[in-house]
Amino acid sequence: MKDCNSCGKCCEKYGGDGLSATSEEIGWWLTHRPDIARYVQDDRIWIDPETNDYFARCPWLSRSADGSKFVCDIYAVRPEDCRHYPTNIAEMVRDGCEMLERHDLVDVGRAQRKLDAIMADSRPPVCRRARR
Ligand code: SF4
Ligand code: SF4
Repeated sequence: MKDCNSCGKCCEKYGGDGLSATSEEIGWWLTHRPDIARYVQDDRIWIDPETNDYFARCPWLSRSADGSKFVCDIYAVRPEDCRHYPTNIAEMVRDGCEMLERHDLVDVGRAQRKLDAIMADSRPPVCRRARR
């Protein structure tokens, strides 16, 4: 199991209509980050205020200065849904997550424990829910 290399696949896949935010997060954005809250409508994220529909792609996903990786423009205050990814090995396989190494698929239990250790600072070991 490698560290995340910021390949951006997860943000590309889920950043359109595949994310959710808690009422606490939305309330915090409304108070402290109206620039983020402007893309929230009826508890849905991320909504284009011009079309009232989901953005086709996360509006906070950018290329790094040298173009070699993707960065999140709101990384420090991104939704929990983003913080918790990836949650399990099956999800990583399905999404082509580049943290995975060949040997992770030989012993999935060991790989999951390694993932949980890597993610310890950003989510509980057993995430409250997996992504759709
Ligand atoms: S908010 Fe940030 S971490 Fe979440 S999908 Fe968008 S770019 Fe990725
Ligand atoms: S798909 Fe995996 S390696 Fe790529 S940015 Fe997401 S977590 Fe990182």
